[in-house]
Amino acid sequence: MEYEPVIGLEVHAQLLTASKIFCGCSTEFGAIPNSHTCPVCLGMPGVLPVLNKKVVEYALKMALATHCTINETSNFARKNYFYPDLPKGYQISQYAQPLAEHGKVEIEVNGGKKVIGITRIHMEEDAGKLIHDEYNPASYVDLNRAGVPLIEIVSEPDIRSAEEAGAYLKRLHEILVYMEICDGNMEEGSFRCDANISLRPKWETAFGTRTELKNMNSFRNIQRALEYEIKRQRYVLENGGSVAQETRLWDDAQGVTNPMRGKEEAHDYRYFPDPDLVSLTVDELWLEEIKRSLPELPLKKRERFVRDYQIPAYDAGVLTSSRALADYFEAVAKLSGKPKAASNWVMVDILKFLNDDKREIKDCPILPESLAQLITLIDAGAISGKMAKDVIVEMYETGKSPKAIIEEKGMVQIADEETLKKVISSVIGANPQQLSQFLAGKDKLFGYFVGQVMKATQGKANPQLVNELLKKMLAET
Ligand code: ADP
Ligand code: MG
Ligand code: ZN
Repeated sequence: MEYEPVIGLEVHAQLLTASKIFCGCSTEFGAIPNSHTCPVCLGMPGVLPVLNKKVVEYALKMALATHCTINETSNFARKNYFYPDLPKGYQISQYAQPLAEHGKVEIEVNGGKKVIGITRIHMEEDAGKLIHDEYNPASYVDLNRAGVPLIEIVSEPDIRSAEEAGAYLKRLHEILVYMEICDGNMEEGSFRCDANISLRPKWETAFGTRTELKNMNSFRNIQRALEYEIKRQRYVLENGGSVAQETRLWDDAQGVTNPMRGKEEAHDYRYFPDPDLVSLTVDELWLEEIKRSLPELPLKKRERFVRDYQIPAYDAGVLTSSRALADYFEAVAKLSGKPKAASNWVMVDILKFLNDDKREIKDCPILPESLAQLITLIDAGAISGKMAKDVIVEMYETGKSPKAIIEEKGMVQIADEETLKKVISSVIGANPQQLSQFLAGKDKLFGYFVGQVMKATQGKANPQLVNELLKKMLAET
């Protein structure tokens, strides 16, 4: 029997605000434990939360970018549970009336496009962090993260493979980072994903029983965990068993998922509207303002690059992988007026340099102006493409402009007809044997003459011009 996986993802993204969602404490990562805390995020009695407007703005940006319907009124609720990293005994989240619903994102898998529905996007606060001492039987709590703003993005169960899940997550990640509302750092937990997965016979329309997978901290691990879970559930079903509804933890070292807790008992959070917070009403004019402030999103940019710069979709994909890289390419394309050449130099040379040095584009020593200048020099015949390959290495190492390097090294190409003609006639004169063979029909010797001219000019002759002049002058002898 053939089984089909059904997957729905819950993504938590930490918003890049300077302060927490309900108090003025800093959200900075990695500070001395408990140094970014106050009575509000410590859950002291008698304090009142005050909503951070920036959090709402960022959440709205994501909602707009994923085509959600924005609820004019939404509410905060208390999600009650006890855990040492949650001093209040409840997490403030949105439940019955979330900020946004019914969105979608487009993904590409195997060259095909597919739309994944977004059920809801809501705002909530993060909990603190427990640190377990390796050497002592003790655990510590760090509440710096308590109250840091998150959005939760819940997908519809529209995903059908681990690969689609990966493509969906990368797309969400890309949008968040492009809009600069989340740093996307998965290791620091700024972008986390819980995966819900069930299997059903291929012809079946009803969903099977799902498990929820946690504890994956990279795209690769999410895909591995899903692949493992697909196999595990298939094995259970094929052997006449039934999948237990439970939360399972991914064990990276073993490459398996293990049950963490049954879902049923953990589920009753006794949500109720938080009486300390008024309903949130999104002002229409403000929403319009936010809409106007949205940057061009990666998918749109990709399409525009293909259309306006006539570069292949593959190139456009690579060049728009980050906003900074896209800006860099675009600056070079515009300054040089040669988008295809700009794309080649950025994709082949610049990305290789950066990759070898583990550097980011913002730290690239070659400024867009310099690369554009190089392209212009090649185009004008001042240097050959081959020379340019040496020049760009020097540009990367020294940060100097191509003009300065060419002058310093005396690399200027000989593109002057009179000079070249002189060289060519002396080459022809010095090789009477090859000349007579050539004139007798041995066409292959043309390359020999080109080589001799290049040698005589130490590779500085403009090859195109050498070709042209040689043809003419050989024909005339
Ligand atoms: P919970 O509150 O328990 O996390 P939700 O109803 O919010 O449950 O669903 C969470 C996620 O699980 C959503 O992304 C949804 O698409 C997905 N999901 C729901 N049912 C299934 C199923 N049978 N198989 C796979 N995923 C599912
Ligand atoms: Mg869940
Ligand atoms: Zn605080």
